[in-house]
Amino acid sequence: MRKITIIGAGQAGLQLGIGLLDAGYDVTLVTNRTGQQIRDGRIMSSQCMFGTAQAHERALGLDFWSSSCPPVEGIAFTVPDGSGGKAFSWSSRLDAAARSVDQRVKMPVWLEQFEERGGKVELREADGEDLEFYARESDLVIIAAGKGEIAGLFERDAQRSTYDKPQRALALTYVTGMTPREEHSAVAFNLVPGVGEYFTFPALTTSGPCDIMVFEGIPGGPLDCWGDVTTPEQHLERSRELLAAHLPWEAERCRDIQLTDAGGVLAGRFPPTVRKPVGRLPSGALVLGVADVVVLNDPITGQGSNNAGKCAASYLASILEHGDRPFDGAFMQETFERYWDYAQYVATWTNALLAAPPEHVLRLLGAAATSPRVARRFANGFDDPRDFFHWFMDPASAEKYLAAVAN
Ligand SMILES: Cc1cc2nc3c(=O)[nH]c(=O)nc-3n(C[C@H](O)[C@H](O)[C@H](O)COP(=O)(O)OP(=O)(O)OC[C@H]3O[C@@H](n4cnc5c(N)ncnc54)[C@H](O)[C@@H]3O)c2cc1C
Repeated sequence: MRKITIIGAGQAGLQLGIGLLDAGYDVTLVTNRTGQQIRDGRIMSSQCMFGTAQAHERALGLDFWSSSCPPVEGIAFTVPDGSGGKAFSWSSRLDAAARSVDQRVKMPVWLEQFEERGGKVELREADGEDLEFYARESDLVIIAAGKGEIAGLFERDAQRSTYDKPQRALALTYVTGMTPREEHSAVAFNLVPGVGEYFTFPALTTSGPCDIMVFEGIPGGPLDCWGDVTTPEQHLERSRELLAAHLPWEAERCRDIQLTDAGGVLAGRFPPTVRKPVGRLPSGALVLGVADVVVLNDPITGQGSNNAGKCAASYLASILEHGDRPFDGAFMQETFERYWDYAQYVATWTNALLAAPPEHVLRLLGAAATSPRVARRFANGFDDPRDFFHWFMDPASAEKYLAAVAN
């Protein structure tokens, strides 16, 4: 039986590990936290997952929350006019509802599933020496450690990385008591030109349904303001102040909000980074990076967990198709390139949205306010961002599309 070791028990490591177990592989998962520690810890993400990523989970029998997690039924988009009103605002339904299950809820259950399905779990912060050991003992070692330090083992790919510095100051606030949107639930996305973005959507957390507030501040601007916040209560207060100052209609929804729990806040920043997928240990042994380790995007487009699930599904297919042949460097590179054939579009679209919106993008987003067809296409692009490259990403395609829609 082929033996595979995976470092990291997040979206990618667990989904891939469980998929491999189901296919008859001998899988060891190395995690630096127990399920209980994850459950009792701090939030890590806003993890809103769209239809395709959810389908990968369902295919492995890993969707335990579709009835308890509030659905995210659409995407809403608003740009303020700079004087307290809205320049434009629209919303559209998603063909398949998105869902956000707090990773503190999901990962402990998946860890249990992993063990129930025959996987071995080792609790440790894997270091270089551990990797040498696992590389000797296993046919393949996969690093699924997300933003963990160990990702530094993989060289940054300067050609494929657009930025070398963080592009947003990030903050998350998990709350209860937010007033629901009137028509349908949605990722309510607000773009404040020159300042940053704020979006919010319903989710399931450790105590039940909640709403997640996501702040994306342009560095040095008014939403880049979390450095002096030292308590969860201050974090909540700062969240309220920002909405009152920049997005009064969102502040209105937040009159009665309370934190879900003391761990329901997060602030930080990181540079979006693409890394080379094959890591070489001092002994010469090779290890393969997956998901955030190799393609780390800013959360502005909410793609990271979706990507992690899609990357895990793609790697699973590559491993199964490879049969009994050795997992050498060529296999590792090819496995990544198959995923990159998809992920490069997500990275390019996400990186484009981090820059100041060009004129054709503003025109398209404005057109969505009067054309349900444009709004629907934008909303559903979140499930598969490759579609944006047919109509959204460059001025000529945008022109052509707008002309076609006008007819
Ligand atoms: C503020 C914010 C908001 C986000 N919002 C969204 C969103 O709305 N939608 C979306 O799709 N994505 C979102 N994401 C991104 C998403 O959370 C990640 O892309 C996704 O979790 C990546 O999965 P992963 O399996 O690669 O890594 P992770 O989920 O980070 O898992 C890595 C695991 O490895 C463990 N680990 C690390 N180092 C070691 C080690 N040395 N030994 C053992 N274990 C180790 C970690 O503890 C962790 O459990 C957001 C991220 C942030 C920061």
